[in-house]
Amino acid sequence: MLVARTRAELTEALVSLRAGGRSVGLVPTMGFLHQGHLSLMDVAGVHADVVVASIFVNPLQFAPSEDLASYPRDEGRDLALLEQRGVALAFLPSVEQMYPGGDPQVAVSAGALGRRLCGAFRPGHFQGVLTVVAKLLGLFRPDVAVFGRKDLQQAALIRIMVRDLEMGVRIETGPIVREADGLAMSSRNAYLRSEERAQAPAIFQALSDARERWDEGVRDVDKLLSTVRNRIARQGLMDLQYAEAVHPQTLESVDRVNVGTVLAVAAYCGTTRLIDNLELS
Ligand code: AMP
Repeated sequence: MLVARTRAELTEALVSLRAGGRSVGLVPTMGFLHQGHLSLMDVAGVHADVVVASIFVNPLQFAPSEDLASYPRDEGRDLALLEQRGVALAFLPSVEQMYPGGDPQVAVSAGALGRRLCGAFRPGHFQGVLTVVAKLLGLFRPDVAVFGRKDLQQAALIRIMVRDLEMGVRIETGPIVREADGLAMSSRNAYLRSEERAQAPAIFQALSDARERWDEGVRDVDKLLSTVRNRIARQGLMDLQYAEAVHPQTLESVDRVNVGTVLAVAAYCGTTRLIDNLELS
């Protein structure tokens, strides 16, 4: 596996990987990799000849009060996992390599959708995400870029950005990979203390309870969302931020639940913010 830490090394590596007209599939990550990230490498491999990944904890998407300094990192382990998974190139830039002149003067606004759902609780977060993804797409010029459906709003906004700004890259997504007890895998799960870890699967259980009611024929949004809220409220260490039923592409709230409607949740478990979602099908 090639490892690039500078823009110059990245450019050189990409020239060699593209030899013979091979297509490139990019998976951007913030590292501290788990099976969810690695599953996206496989998705990229289905859609492109060569899989490349980036590991960059992007300061622009963290508010001053958030966990930038403590975000978990393990570069050696990440590189070994990427290599085992058949990734051809890992890009691990420093903050100075990504933002040579300091914070960029121009950023990508996430618009109204960027202020809803998670954006309502994390002002500026999606602008930071879109700006770094735009930069990574500019640096790699991949044929396809792959994102996880765990970060539903992020994936939706990236699709909108690529469409609205004619970025000419295909966006693919991969399903949520979960622990055996249903908890969606996340690098931030490493923060959970044991009693929090024991309660955290309640988010998925809450979504699954609502899906059961949907399967029984319940179509009323309030009833399904009450099921979610009540299940999470039973956990002493959990504090719900939102539970919403949204359209899968626009993420607009829906009045009536239909096939394809997504139930989306964000909740604190202790001091760790967790997100999850489930598509009703
Ligand atoms: P992150 O390192 O958290 O920025 O995530 C990098 C990519 O992995 C994003 O596209 C996430 O949506 C995706 N991802 C994170 N957790 C999971 C998961 N449990 N299942 C599938 N994809 C995931």
